[in-house]
Amino acid sequence: MLLQIFMEGVKVKQAQDTLHLELCNLNRNLRQAKGLMDLYKDKIAQLDDKLKVWSEQTARLSEDGRRHSVSSGNAQRKLADVLGEAQQLRQSMDQVQSNVGRSRLGVAGLLVELEKDRFSKRRTEDDLESLSRKASSLRAKTEGSSVLEKVHQEVNEYRGILKCGVCRDRQKEVVITKCYHLFCNDCIQKLLRNRQRRCPSCALSFGANDVKPIYI
Ligand SMILES: [Zn+2]
Ligand SMILES: [Zn+2]
Repeated sequence: MLLQIFMEGVKVKQAQDTLHLELCNLNRNLRQAKGLMDLYKDKIAQLDDKLKVWSEQTARLSEDGRRHSVSSGNAQRKLADVLGEAQQLRQSMDQVQSNVGRSRLGVAGLLVELEKDRFSKRRTEDDLESLSRKASSLRAKTEGSSVLEKVHQEVNEYRGILKCGVCRDRQKEVVITKCYHLFCNDCIQKLLRNRQRRCPSCALSFGANDVKPIYI
């Protein structure tokens, strides 16, 4: 009976030891777990910090991105403006080039006109020279013809001197020896027949014997 109690006591003691050991193990595990928990809390805090930093960075980046987006929009608008200006400049340049082309054509046309003018001027000068020569020739001829005209006049004058002053048709053939005026024979014979015996030029009376023939 005593032995039995002793054995029970031993068993209880063993059980107590086992329990104590288990308790120790549990405590150790608990401490380890607590350590891990602390570690995790630290890590979580660190992660929180990092998250905060990242969040701030993200916010900054987002802001930067917005700014970039805005500036990118501005840049795109500016680029579009510049492209538009470049297009306009190209158009203006094309226009200028076409104007230059037209101007060249115009200049070429003007040169052609100038050449034509020069040619026609030369031709006009040639014509003028030819006309001038003709004019000199005509002047010479005119002078010649005026000489001829004078000769004609003189011939007429001499013919007038030679013609009878009464009938102005026939040649002087007789002279009235009293005054030496000359007439044609017909006119003087008519005066003698009609008994109007006076000289037609100076009215001096004459007789049939005063009329003599002349030989020119
Ligand atoms: Zn007469
Ligand atoms: Zn007379």
